[in-house]
Amino acid sequence: MKGRRSKPLSGPGALQLALPFEAIAPVPALPPGAGQRSAILEGQRVDYLLKRSRRRTLGFQIDERGLTVSAPSWFPVRELDGALQEKSRWILAKLVEWREYQQRRERLAIRWADGESLRYLGRTLRMEICTRTDGVMHDGAALRIGLPPGAGSGQMRDRVHAWLQAEATRIFGERLPVFCARLGRKPARWGLSSARTRWGSCTADGVIRLNWRLVHFPLELIDYVIAHEVAHLKELNHSAGFWSTVGELMPGYREARERLRALHEEGATL
Ligand SMILES: [Zn+2]
Repeated sequence: MKGRRSKPLSGPGALQLALPFEAIAPVPALPPGAGQRSAILEGQRVDYLLKRSRRRTLGFQIDERGLTVSAPSWFPVRELDGALQEKSRWILAKLVEWREYQQRRERLAIRWADGESLRYLGRTLRMEICTRTDGVMHDGAALRIGLPPGAGSGQMRDRVHAWLQAEATRIFGERLPVFCARLGRKPARWGLSSARTRWGSCTADGVIRLNWRLVHFPLELIDYVIAHEVAHLKELNHSAGFWSTVGELMPGYREARERLRALHEEGATL
């Protein structure tokens, strides 16, 4: 449709109607002043989305979409810039924080292609695609992944995820009884989870779930999560008593807890 023009009409709408078809396609109606805008904060151009809302004060929100400003419907657009200038330090600091977080996540994300690396128990494995074998084989610093010729990255990811989950079942299944024996209690049952925000959980009826993505990390970190959840079989809280139980199960847990926290803040694997 590019270049096709509607017949010019007379009247005030004529100029607009003479534009290419795409340009005059109806856009959703927005409340007055709402939409994409930009401001110069401390010399930097910052794009933001202005939303009109029923709130009584201005609101600023920064997330993966950037800056969103929610303004009461009566708030004059001409006063927005002054309000943004007042908040400029906070806005710029938050935008930098988000950008850094996203860059870290991108750096840590697994690239599903031949020759790329994968973290397994804290070590780096090189992924190699093998078109003549089946299944996944761990061999020293290599992970050989059997895939049919021409398989896509999605198939590769599914194969490796299935292998990592089988490894998680095997390794957690070996480590859990160690801590259960130390405590003298067993879970009613346990299983893998793929929660996006937590490494493990324990319910009041003694069901333990462990995030399979923990297999990327060194064994001490896996042990810490297991010791933590096993300790919940005795103390279903985070009281001083609970932490002393964790300490009995795993004397060096504090260091492991800090390392896990640091990895989590980097956005590792979650
Ligand atoms: Zn807990």
